[in-house]
Parts: sequence; C-alpha cells; structure tokens
Amino acid sequence: MTPPRLRRILVVGGGTAGWMAACALNQAVRLGGTRVELVESDAIGIVGVGEATVPTIRQFNQDIGLDEVTFLKATQGTFKLGIEFRDWRGPGNRFFHGFGDYVVNTGPYSTLNHWLVARDLVGDAAGDFDAYHMAAVMAYAGRFAAPDKDPRSPYHYFSYAFHFDAGLYARLLRTKAEREGVVRHEGRITGTDLDPETGFIRGVRLEDGRDLSADLFIDCSGFTSLMADKVLGEPFLDYSRWLPVDRAWAVPSARLGALPPYTRATALEGGWQWRIPLQHRTGNGYVFSSAHVSEDEARARLLANLDGAALDEPRLLRFKTGRRQRFWVRNCVAIGLSSGFVEPLESTSISLIQGGITRLISLLPDQTFNPALAAEYNRIQALEFDRIRDFIIMHYALTQRDDTDFWRERRTMTLPDSLAQRIETFRETGHVVLLNEETFVTPSWQALFVGLGLVPTRRDPLMAARQRDEIVESLRLRRSSLAQAAARLPTHAEFIARHCRAGG
Ligand SMILES: Cc1cc2nc3c(=O)[nH]c(=O)nc-3n(C[C@H](O)[C@H](O)[C@H](O)COP(=O)(O)OP(=O)(O)OC[C@H]3O[C@@H](n4cnc5c(N)ncnc54)[C@H](O)[C@@H]3O)c2cc1C
Repeated sequence: MTPPRLRRILVVGGGTAGWMAACALNQAVRLGGTRVELVESDAIGIVGVGEATVPTIRQFNQDIGLDEVTFLKATQGTFKLGIEFRDWRGPGNRFFHGFGDYVVNTGPYSTLNHWLVARDLVGDAAGDFDAYHMAAVMAYAGRFAAPDKDPRSPYHYFSYAFHFDAGLYARLLRTKAEREGVVRHEGRITGTDLDPETGFIRGVRLEDGRDLSADLFIDCSGFTSLMADKVLGEPFLDYSRWLPVDRAWAVPSARLGALPPYTRATALEGGWQWRIPLQHRTGNGYVFSSAHVSEDEARARLLANLDGAALDEPRLLRFKTGRRQRFWVRNCVAIGLSSGFVEPLESTSISLIQGGITRLISLLPDQTFNPALAAEYNRIQALEFDRIRDFIIMHYALTQRDDTDFWRERRTMTLPDSLAQRIETFRETGHVVLLNEETFVTPSWQALFVGLGLVPTRRDPLMAARQRDEIVESLRLRRSSLAQAAARLPTHAEFIARHCRAGG
C-alpha cells in the first residue's frame, strides 16, 4: 500500500529562503495534490542582504522556469564572473577567484603544473596565474558574454553567476509562487502546537488568533530560527573560533559607471569589505569581528572606503557563524539563515538554500516520516556546510598579513583537521584533495592557494619530459590569446544594456 502523501507543507518565512523553497516545492508536489502555503510577517521583514551568488543559482532558476532575462530585469541584476580578493595575502596584493576552470588545452598536464614550471624558469615573466583563467581576464577587462559550448573556443571554460537585489528577488519569486497556487498568510507567529506524544509540530498560531496546521514545516524564519531553535531546541555548532566575524555594516552607494562583472572583497583591519555592483546601485558592507573593531570604527571605515556617494544610512547586522547540528528534526526542516550561516565571503548562503531545497525534494517524506530520510538529509547538508566552512577558513588561515591582532590570530589558529590536511597536501604535492559534497572544486582551491601565496614545493615529474622552451612559449601564447579574446567582447555595461536592462 502506498503511504499517505503529505497534505500540506507550511513554509515559515518569506525571505529569499522562504520564497525559493515555496516555489520549488510547489512545483514538485502540486500535481500530487499537496498544498504549499507560506506565512510571513511584513512587520518583521527580511534580512534584505545576500546579493552575490555562485553559478548554481542558474540551475535553480532554470528548474523553477525563471528565465535569465526576466530575472535580471526584475532584480536589477548583473553578471558575476568571480571575486577579486584585495589585500588578503598582504597589502597591495590582488588575485581573482574565477568561476569555471583555467584554460585546460594543455594535454594531460594541468594549467597549474605548466605555470609552476614556467615560473621556475622565467619568474614573473610567466605572468599571474589569473592570466590563464578566462573569467579573471574578462573581469579585469570589464567584459562579458555568455560562455561558448564549443570546447575549442577560448570562451568555453568559464562560468558565471549573478549579483541581484535580494528584496526584489524575493518579490519576484513571491509573484511567481502565488500565480502557481502557493497561498500566502500575512501575520506574526506567536505560538506553536506540538503533538504531546511524538513531539511533531501540528500547527502555528498567529498573533491575530488564526491557526495554521501542516504535515511538514519548512523553517525559513531567518536568524530567529523560530522552529529549529526556539521550538525544537536543536543545538548550534559554533564556527566562531575559526570565523570570528560577527557583524556587518551594509550600505548602498551610487551605481558604478563601468559596472565591473565581479564582486570585490577587500581585507581590512578586522575583517573585509564587499562591493557588489548592481544595475541601479552598488551594495557595500564591512564584515568584521566586534572583538577586534568597534561598531563605530567599522562604520566610519566603510563610509570612507566607498567608490561612490552613500545612498542611505548604513545598517548593522549581527550574526554568529555556525550551523544547527541537525537541519531536519521530526517534521520540520530548517533552510536558510535559520539553519546556519558561514559568513558571506564566498556568497554561499543562497547555494546552501538551493542545496537544501533540492535535497528535500529528492528525499521528500510521506506522512509516515521515515527517520532514514531525515538522517540522510542531515548527513549531506552537514557535510556541505562543513566543506564550505573549511574553504572560507582557508582564506584567513593562509594570509601573510600581520598588521592587526585579528590577522595574527587567524594565521596561528588551529585548523579543522579536514582543512589542515588539504593545505599540507597542496603545499607538498600541488594536488588538491577533494572530499564528497564539495561546493568548490579543484580550480577554486587552486585559485585561493596560489592567490594567497601557497606555492607547492614539488613539480609534476611528467612535466620534465616536455621541452622547457615549449612550456614557456605555450603559456605566453595562451595568455595573449585570452587577453585578445576578452578584448573582442562587449563591456559588461554594454552587454546588460543590450540584453537585460532593468526598468526604473
Ligand atoms: C551581512 C550579510 C551578507 C550576506 N551576503 C550574502 C551574499 O552575498 N550571498 C548569499 O548567498 N547570501 C548572503 N547572505 C545570506 C542571505 O542574506 C540569506 O541567506 C538569505 O537572504 C536568506 O535569508 P532567509 O530567507 O533565511 O531569512 P530572512 O530574509 O531574514 O527571512 C526571514 C523571514 O521569516 C519571517 N519571520 C521571522 N519570524 C517570524 C514570525 N515570528 N512570524 C512570521 N514570520 C516570521 C520574516 O518575516 C521573513 O519573511 C548574507 C547575510 C548577511 C548577514
């Protein structure tokens, strides 16, 4: 006998996480007769930041039937080829974490191996490692076009994501979800009804006395973590011993004329500053550790560092880095900030939301709630969080900055074993250790290792068989062909004006 299907799913919260979950779940379950409803409180509002993404967002939008042009026009969106890191290795240094891969038409040898040997032979004349990543070359040239499917094309190996206005994205998803049948309830949740025997959530009570019941609850209530924390008391695993940043000032500034197709992350005394170019304005923020920099100092530093006039008063956000021990507890799944927050350095929160939603759909329970489904969900989601945590910690751990206590402490902190082993393996062999459920794969780790100055000691023995002049010459040709290919593209601003200019 087929077990009874879920009758109703209630999404608690209408920020990016809530509306992404409502849209995707509704598409997955509506034909089976399950209703998806969402409750949110306009009086509480949404966190309203979260403007940069990684390339997987494209798959999410595609899966829910949201085409790219509509999305970019509605959200004042721009294209993101990666992140420029400034002053992380030390003041004056910069490098790029580009999306996609380094140009790989080098036979069986990786671009990194070529570059290391060329560097041994001709030093700086081998160019920056960035010069072999099309996304980095295009970003620095301020150019953009979509990748080419043909693997012989210089435009084949890069990928891209988006910058967008988080509030407008939530609004767009809401319109779409409501059109497709999701019912929205406005109101503040003030109480929860639990089944006395099973501890399952039966329903929530709103301030005005209405009761909303469901079989499955998706906790997208943001940092409040209304159900996962407040009702179910699921423990929080704190990452702050490695990632002590716990505040951010955020402020919009005037649009940048040239519209750089990338996020900038600049290391500062007690954290780092983001710059995210949108069509109508630029998003900025200083993410900092309040144990090292006062709120007033951080605010002043951010305002002094803007590339354009501030358009509003800075807004302070407080957070703690870490995650819930389990995300799916009984009949409640926490997704978004209610489930944890790693910190926004690599723009990973929305991709964690996406991973959570996709995983839930593939492990969707029926009314019997087989505990094996929750256990598998929790296992994978925890790995994904912890892999991202390691990747982010590495940005701080490998710094050569020693100008403040914040950076000195980061250089000497004890690392999670999973990260320490990866760093040692790369240092000694040049090999990137990949574990399962990684969001960031080999080229990303290489970009960060090399960018932060970790050059492996060993050279690939197979490279010794190649003519040294040939290696140097092939890299020189590749570098110049990428630069020429980038120069042939429209500027990012021209591309947007032509294809997806937002109104208003
Ligand atoms: C400083 C900072 C920078 C960030 N930058 C990025 C980035 O660049 N890229 C990225 O991917 N992510 C980023 N994030 C994370 C990103 O903002 C979030 O992951 C994303 O916005 C999802 O938030 P959310 O939907 O979980 O929570 P929220 O947006 O806070 O939504 C919570 C919802 O719950 C509702 N709610 C809460 N309590 C109740 C109640 N009692 N009754 C009814 N409703 C209730 C609220 O009304 C709201 O609708 C950043 C976060 C911070 C703090």
